Amino acid sequence: MQWFLGREVHADAPASSAQGFGNVLHVLADEVASGGTPADLSVLLERLDSVWDGLAFEAPWKSRQEKENARAALERFLRWHVMERGDARHAVGSEHPFDVTLRAGETGEYAVRIRGSMDRVESDALGRAYVVDFKTGRTKPSGAEIAEHPQLAVYQLAVREGAADGLFGGERPPPGGAELVQLRLGATRKAGGDALPTVQRQEPPDPQDLPESERTRALLATAAGRVLDERFTPNTGSHCAFCAFRSACSARPEGGQVVE
Ligand code: SF4
Repeated sequence: MQWFLGREVHADAPASSAQGFGNVLHVLADEVASGGTPADLSVLLERLDSVWDGLAFEAPWKSRQEKENARAALERFLRWHVMERGDARHAVGSEHPFDVTLRAGETGEYAVRIRGSMDRVESDALGRAYVVDFKTGRTKPSGAEIAEHPQLAVYQLAVREGAADGLFGGERPPPGGAELVQLRLGATRKAGGDALPTVQRQEPPDPQDLPESERTRALLATAAGRVLDERFTPNTGSHCAFCAFRSACSARPEGGQVVE
């Protein structure tokens, strides 16, 4: 329902300061990965200064507080960017656009077109494609949720269907895993401490384990079926905390009167 109201009805609220925060961080991460801005903290902080006042905050103190958080997030990003990552990974693409059509459903009855952009694509020592998604929110999925995180799973499926071929000389790389890099959330002491971001990794799908790879296709088929049948039933959960449509949602106490 959130998708329907936001994307189809275009009833979305104006971009929030949280989105502005995320956009700035994503743009700077892209500039560093693509070589447009050096991987130098003082240069990045100057860039941050030059755009920050364009973001809307409810109060000046909030803007100052969030700017400090943005600085800390940029420092974490830079440390992550220059550190040795597992399997000799190195960046081959940034803000990589893709557009693939997958067959989904029990008998492949749905053709599901997925268009999007991967924050970063890396190649590992085995020539596999590894997808990185930067997050700037205050919350993160649990360890158990990451194993089946739909966004990462769809990225990996898309890689298998050719989404990253253009970055690998036209060859089809196998997916090597995907991860969320939580720039606002410092790592645990065991994982390097607060100066590094929390990294949440999803393993690559096991080519032998059909049910595992079929789960993602089943998820896409369900989503496609809902869109086609126009069944936009609300599905409550922790995601409601950040939904702009709570007061218009029949599944929420705030929205009950609107529907009645
Ligand atoms: S409040 Fe929750 S259930 Fe309702 S539309 Fe938003 S995310 Fe969906």
